[in-house]
Amino acid sequence: MKRNLISPALLLIAFLCCSLLQGQSTKTNLNPNKVTYPSYGSEERSTIIFPKVMGYEVVTCDFHTHTMFSDGLVWPSLRVSEAWTEGLDAIAITDHIEYRPHRKLTVNDHNTSYTIAKEAADAAGFMLIKGTEITRTQKTLGHFNALFIQDANPIDTSDAKASIREAKKQGAFIIWNHPGWAVDSTYIKEFQEDLFREGLIDGIEVFNNTEFYPRVLAWAVEKGLTVISASDAHGSIEKGVLAKEGIHRPMTLVLASERTLAGIREALDKGRTLAYFHNTIAGREVFARGFVNASIKAKLVTKKEKSSDYLLTNLADFTFKFSFGKKKIELPALSSIIITIPNNPTSINLVFGNIFINENQLLAHDLQL
Ligand code: ZN
Repeated sequence: MKRNLISPALLLIAFLCCSLLQGQSTKTNLNPNKVTYPSYGSEERSTIIFPKVMGYEVVTCDFHTHTMFSDGLVWPSLRVSEAWTEGLDAIAITDHIEYRPHRKLTVNDHNTSYTIAKEAADAAGFMLIKGTEITRTQKTLGHFNALFIQDANPIDTSDAKASIREAKKQGAFIIWNHPGWAVDSTYIKEFQEDLFREGLIDGIEVFNNTEFYPRVLAWAVEKGLTVISASDAHGSIEKGVLAKEGIHRPMTLVLASERTLAGIREALDKGRTLAYFHNTIAGREVFARGFVNASIKAKLVTKKEKSSDYLLTNLADFTFKFSFGKKKIELPALSSIIITIPNNPTSINLVFGNIFINENQLLAHDLQL
């Protein structure tokens, strides 16, 4: 026969606890046959931290996502909750106008995914941008996101240019999506040349999903286009290896004068963005420099005759990788390291291995000491 392992003292404590709980509320119903654990679905929001850059708030945005209302695999409100839990500030849902394989299951017009997501966004105080994706033959015309639209339905026309013009008429910000996707090489075709001439393209994706297009960064710099990085998520957002390593989804860091939709729009129009992906930044030199200056602070620890030790503190949720002379140094996100600097200069030149300011050009920066 098995021995009873529960001591009489423990039974007494359990009995007292039950009595006390029952005393607190007559409604407490302790059912020994059903014990409830916290929900797997309970949500907590992570915090993505960036210091102000050149006086601007850094607003984290993903301007390219899909739902079941085009060829995505998730419901619109889930797009909002996953972005909210990840700590992003804003997203756009950009369902394809022309490609809707689940159409028979989702009887809807082109605004429905936004309407559903907006309810979830408002409930969480989360910023949602109304958008759509104009999706034409990739090899000749391309795909374009229209953000800040009023109504996606009239954008559904047979002529690609007419669709873009209609979006523009509604006040849209137009992004040329993934110029290098599904083509052998990244180049500007006749149709896009024409759009540039007419001033119909405002921004361009230098990074989309898993692809970086270095040449597109050169076009952005040359033509004064706003640089964009976006997930183009169709399924659920990566929570595996990358998330474990602290790498966020691809997103656009918008340098906005205020954390509002109007603030985001103003910054996009002025080209104040940085593209973030796989712990790499790509963007215009002025903002990349501003980002480094705001994020890395140097403080003297010990001064010796022929060298000094400096504490470098990283205020950003971004691991800086740089070379200093022959040394390769990693300054992890939101951390500090001490480095020894010979000959006591007033500044040091760092070359950042994970910050691009042009096609295959890394940022070299004099950090003031
Ligand atoms: Zn897309």
